[in-house]
Amino acid sequence: MPIYLDHHATTPCDPRVVAAMLPYFSEQFGNPASLTHEHGRRAANVVEDARIVVARFFQVQPNEIFFTAGATESNNIVLHLVKEGDHLVTSPTEHSSVFRPAQLRGATFVAVDGDGLVDPDAVRASLRPRTRLVSIEAANGEIGTLQRIAEIGAICRERGVLFHSDITQAAGKVPLDLANVDLASFSGHKLYGPKGIGGLLVRRGIRIDPVIVGGGQEKGVRSGTVNVPGVVGLGAALRLRAAEMTEEAARLAALRDDLRERIVAEIDGASVNGPRALRLPGNLNVSFERVEAESLMIAMRRFSLSSGSACASGERAPSRVLTAIGVPEALAIGSIRIGLGKSNTADQLAIFVDDLQRSIRKLREISAA
Ligand code: PMP
Repeated sequence: MPIYLDHHATTPCDPRVVAAMLPYFSEQFGNPASLTHEHGRRAANVVEDARIVVARFFQVQPNEIFFTAGATESNNIVLHLVKEGDHLVTSPTEHSSVFRPAQLRGATFVAVDGDGLVDPDAVRASLRPRTRLVSIEAANGEIGTLQRIAEIGAICRERGVLFHSDITQAAGKVPLDLANVDLASFSGHKLYGPKGIGGLLVRRGIRIDPVIVGGGQEKGVRSGTVNVPGVVGLGAALRLRAAEMTEEAARLAALRDDLRERIVAEIDGASVNGPRALRLPGNLNVSFERVEAESLMIAMRRFSLSSGSACASGERAPSRVLTAIGVPEALAIGSIRIGLGKSNTADQLAIFVDDLQRSIRKLREISAA
């Protein structure tokens, strides 16, 4: 198998998380809505235990946490709050599960600077009397930019506007201050938990108009039988992140900084996209002159890499995020995203830089010939 350097797309489910989930597939299979019997009540109890773990992790109340099928669904539920005539403010670098519904609702997209950072004053200036929601992600999945969500949330609160943050890429990676956040979306598979489970923080008093309607599970926020093994896995994953996140963030940031310095020093025409300091610890996004990322990734099959976001790969258009921060098209199509995670080591990255150097030299020779 190739060496995995794409931890923003997804992360492996930690074996300890898998072990915690296993009993809930076949031994303890009850439906948490079946409160008439022991099978159901046991399932309901483990779901509520996980809700407490998740709430504690984010320093919110358990009754403010709702389980969903992932961050795409959570984001869609939030954007669904914006109705005809309501105004919405967001940024051009959001994940497509915010960006696309925002486009459909005629949102105002506040500009980002060359590092991908949203200026809280620009958010303030964009507010209108009919602004219902501001949605700004905590961290970008392509260039790692960490947004000033506490400040943006404070502005929204002062003006009586709901503030949502898609915290999917930041949760479990960096400390988050959610005190001024009204709604937040997150996902299990980005933090060494399972796929197909996520959550939505909804502050007390905010009424949700559900997207998925049915049996009224999760207090009607998201109908459908609760994914009990998934919920248990999400809880277990966050428990581990609470214990391990700080140390891992420091290790990954050091590995990433070394990698960046080597690439910039040893490869001609390499430039780093995104902020130097205010970014996710495991994130690096680099453009190479006179190289196409698609060809580079084929040449470097020993590594699992991505150009732009995973959801956009396969498309040849330059990444929307790189375009928004002003990277010229010729460089944007020569950009790769490196997402470091738990399994990566300095030895792997040394092999990576050698391979990168060799592959780029070869590709440039071919294109010059
Ligand atoms: N938001 C962000 C910032 C993401 O990176 C992703 C995953 N690429 C999502 C939302 C979607 O999450 P999920 O896979 O749980 O639907």
